[in-house]
Amino acid sequence: MKFDLLPILNADGRRLMLDVELDFAGREEQGAVFLTPVRVTGEFLNIGGRIELEAKADCRLGYECDRCLESYEAVFSCSFKEIFKKEDAKREDEQSSETIVLEGTAIDLDEVVLLNMIVHLPLKHLCKDDCKGLCSNCGQNLNLGECDCDTRPTDPRFDVLDKLL
Ligand SMILES: [Zn+2]
Ligand SMILES: [Zn+2]
Repeated sequence: MKFDLLPILNADGRRLMLDVELDFAGREEQGAVFLTPVRVTGEFLNIGGRIELEAKADCRLGYECDRCLESYEAVFSCSFKEIFKKEDAKREDEQSSETIVLEGTAIDLDEVVLLNMIVHLPLKHLCKDDCKGLCSNCGQNLNLGECDCDTRPTDPRFDVLDKLL
């Protein structure tokens, strides 16, 4: 989605409300699948010719649990800030990589939101904090119940005994 900043681009002190839904349906980033549109709310503010964005992104994401491999859903929410400046702005802060230089008057909101969300995605995916995972022997999901496997640490000497028996 292109979002045009023209209404405040040349008006120091002007604000522009942001309340949109971005559709990333079917997209997958770092093991997270977008299950709902991303609601983005916030505000653009022109401060001395620079446009500052303070925003919040909310949606539901789907993951696969690292331990039991089951799919689960979780609410995702993150806040972020971004600073934009006009193409013809003075180059005093050219070194700043924190600033996005505008091409024309509109920004690519999809890209801005997506990049900020990716930074905040969880690295660990657990369906619940105490997920018991899968039995390393039979593959049973131990959250659903114990399996019949002997879960003693395996010791090569027992293998020899097993063969004798
Ligand atoms: Zn799990
Ligand atoms: Zn088992």
